[in-house]
Parts: sequence; C-alpha cells; structure tokens
Amino acid sequence: MKRKGILIIVSGFSGAGKGTLVKKLIEEYDGYALSISATTRQPRPGEEDGREYFFLQKEQFERKIAENGLIEYACYCDNYYGTPREYVEQQLDDGKDVILEIEIQGALKVKKQYVDALLLFVMPPSAEELRRRLVGRGTETEEVIDKRMRRAAQEAQGIEEYDYIVVNDDLAECVRQLHEIVTAAHNTPDRNKEFIENIRTELEGEK
Ligand code: 5GP
Repeated sequence: MKRKGILIIVSGFSGAGKGTLVKKLIEEYDGYALSISATTRQPRPGEEDGREYFFLQKEQFERKIAENGLIEYACYCDNYYGTPREYVEQQLDDGKDVILEIEIQGALKVKKQYVDALLLFVMPPSAEELRRRLVGRGTETEEVIDKRMRRAAQEAQGIEEYDYIVVNDDLAECVRQLHEIVTAAHNTPDRNKEFIENIRTELEGEK
C-alpha cells in the first residue's frame, strides 16, 4: 500500500521558534518536505531567495494570485505571504508529509481545501518568553516587535481551530513530540480509508 502524504500546517506566534523546530524535524526524520512560501516582505540579513522564501515584488505576487498559483495567501503585518501550489501537490503525490509554516488565516483556508490536513500550533512557554525571543533575534525594530506581539494576541483567539498544540520549551523534546503526532496521524481511519475498505472486502470473501 502506497503511503499518502499528510499536509501538515505548523503555525505559531512570530518568535515561537517554528522555523528552528521545523528545520530540526526535517533534519532528524525522513519523509518530510518543506514548502517554501512566497512573500513581499524584505529579506532579513542572511536570508536567501528560494531558501527561506521566494521574495517577490507586489506585482509579481498579485500575478501569482491571478494565475491560481497559490493554495492560499494572507496579508500579515502589511506584507503578502502565500503557498505555491505546484510543489505541495507534487510532494504529497510522492508520499511526502509536506510542512507549511503559515499563519492562522492561511491555515484555515488550507483546512477548507484539504480536509485531511493536520494543524499544529507551536506555543512559547509564556508571553514574556515570546517577547524575549523576538528581542533576542535582533532582526526587528521595536515597532515591528510590538506589532508582532499584538498580532500574537489576536492569533491566540484561534488556537482551538488546530488539532494539537506543542509547547516549544525544550527544542529536542518538541521535535520528538511533533514527529510522534504526525506518526499517529498516519494511523487514523480517515487517512486509511482505502486500506480499511480492502480488508472489509477481503473479509466478506472469507464468509
Ligand atoms: P516572517 O515574516 O516572520 O518570516 O513570517 C511572518 C508570518 O507569516 C509567520 O507567522 C509565518 O508563519 C507566516 N507565513 C509564512 N509563509 C506564509 C504563507 O505562505 N502563507 C501564510 N498565510 N502565512 C505565511
């Protein structure tokens, strides 16, 4: 039986450590593919086009929307962010578990189109720790940090839409937990309809 890939959405407040977490997960375990989003925000120092994001001009991004080239897109803190469709569908067909690291508006749009998607929300241990991590990153101005903290308060209202939360306190433990959740998700009846049907048919034949 060919294993079908799961579309995994990882959301969490800016600064919760999603990026590091997902990077470790992919390094440590096989079978994952990371979707690279398109954005109109400026690259941060050290970020490369095609690695962290595809950095686009606003007009280029709007063309992608018009061509139906994005599974979803959202406006986050004055910039567009979106998920290119082609790569995700190819990898899922290939049996890979595809990770989208996206914010909540986009996550809910994806959930409507892909009912089997697995939605995970990464939480910091506390709000204070979240601010500390954002400041420690040293890549954002105080104004942007405040904006992201306000945005976190808004996003916190939607956490119940997710299937699981994971608290990013100890990185290694959090990575292990994420992988366990995905492994368990592969074994839900919903995601194994064909296999279950086949066994049923075989059992009928045994009668
Ligand atoms: P950052 O600017 O910190 O890289 O990302 C800001 C927010 O945008 C994060 O919450 C990140 O998960 C989200 N984001 C990144 N790519 C996408 C995307 O393709 N679609 C949506 N909806 N959100 C995204």
